[in-house]
Amino acid sequence: MNVKEILTNLETKHPGEKEYLQAVHEVLESIETIYNENPQYEAAKIIERLVEPDRILTFRISWVDDAGNVQVNLGHRVQFNNAIGPYKGGIRLHPSVNLSILKFLGFEQIFKNALTTLPMGGGKGGSDFNPKGKSDNEIMRFCQAFMLELWRVIGPNTDVPAGDIGTGGREIGFMYGMYKKLQQENSGVFTGKGLNWGGSLIRPEATGFGGVYFTKEMLETKNDTFEGKTISLSGFGNVTWGSALKLTELGGKVVTISGPDGYIYDEKGLDADKIHYLLLLRASNNDIVAPYVQEFPEAKFYPGEKPWGVKCDIAMPCATQNELDGEDAKKLVANGVKYVAEVSNMGCTPEAVDVFHNAKILYGPGKAVNAGGVAVSGLEMSQNAMKMSWTKDEVDAKLHQIMHSIHTACLKYGTEQDGYINYVKGANIAGFIKVADSMLDLGIV
Ligand code: GLU
Repeated sequence: MNVKEILTNLETKHPGEKEYLQAVHEVLESIETIYNENPQYEAAKIIERLVEPDRILTFRISWVDDAGNVQVNLGHRVQFNNAIGPYKGGIRLHPSVNLSILKFLGFEQIFKNALTTLPMGGGKGGSDFNPKGKSDNEIMRFCQAFMLELWRVIGPNTDVPAGDIGTGGREIGFMYGMYKKLQQENSGVFTGKGLNWGGSLIRPEATGFGGVYFTKEMLETKNDTFEGKTISLSGFGNVTWGSALKLTELGGKVVTISGPDGYIYDEKGLDADKIHYLLLLRASNNDIVAPYVQEFPEAKFYPGEKPWGVKCDIAMPCATQNELDGEDAKKLVANGVKYVAEVSNMGCTPEAVDVFHNAKILYGPGKAVNAGGVAVSGLEMSQNAMKMSWTKDEVDAKLHQIMHSIHTACLKYGTEQDGYINYVKGANIAGFIKVADSMLDLGIV
């Protein structure tokens, strides 16, 4: 079956799974030529096997809120592909979570993890639980109830969850605490752990730092640097925080952040105090960015708007999927954006990506740009297995090296005849070849 027929079949089989079909479509479009040139892939039905998860566990979560009411949520773990290592990927807690979203994230994770050079397969999990406005005790009761189901299918060599939107250090603590209680072992299944109980230095910063290291290499292909550049970020969580820290260190000026309620424009740029304030804003658990202007009145809040209308040299979406659409992309291009690096997972719609490609603007896709997070998760697993910890500099140096390898892989497979680097193609082909060839070696399983 050719790539188009496989896609049509998949659309018929999973109608309505919009995000999942979008993610599969993007990868298959990129690898079509490689697939056609290598008949061994078709003979082993590599694509048909790769696009369906190995298995999905779906379960009900019951917990009691502070008012004594019983609450019911749905949880899932998508174990997508373990050809190159244990299933690995975060847990998303957000009211929008459904199987389409978790399947898209799990699918992306396969290639992202392959790009990191570390032995990790792809998986993702989550729940439609909304952490917004919940007390610490409610979060704990939910996390414990979630783990009462999830613990059965995870383990240090089978499936290693981590954080994602709505799951940070606090949630991982509650989940891992329950896991240890049930499993009675300490092998560190879960990454993003606290430093005192098996975590790695640099893990909180890793997605943002890695994204900036990757973007730095994108700039270097044009002999460019961050010095004096104006940068638009979206989001105000962990990824935005880590990106802002490193960008300002390297001489960039971050002028926007955003939340579900609107965006902040801070003409002077974020400094150390403002970046630190993002942590407090996040910890307040209200999921709004507006209070920033009470703290820093020189900034402006634009309710209900996205930050992509602001003039900038570099745009880095750091929030969630499809947060930057075709119209946003046109505005950015009209305002002279030179580079777009997606730190969120699938932050740009296919229409937006087409706009950037047609304008020959360098665009780095999430699975390459944001791979630093899961890469340091992989390094956390190595440290746990050795029962040792590396210093901050050691982890940071390894993260640098990994982001450099990912960029090199993108150049290898994504450089077009006119010299333009199509990072989407590069990342997808490099990730696909590694996983597909491993699947060939492992037989029909
Ligand atoms: N949720 C992050 C991602 O999308 C990190 C996953 C992990 O560390 O396993 O890659």
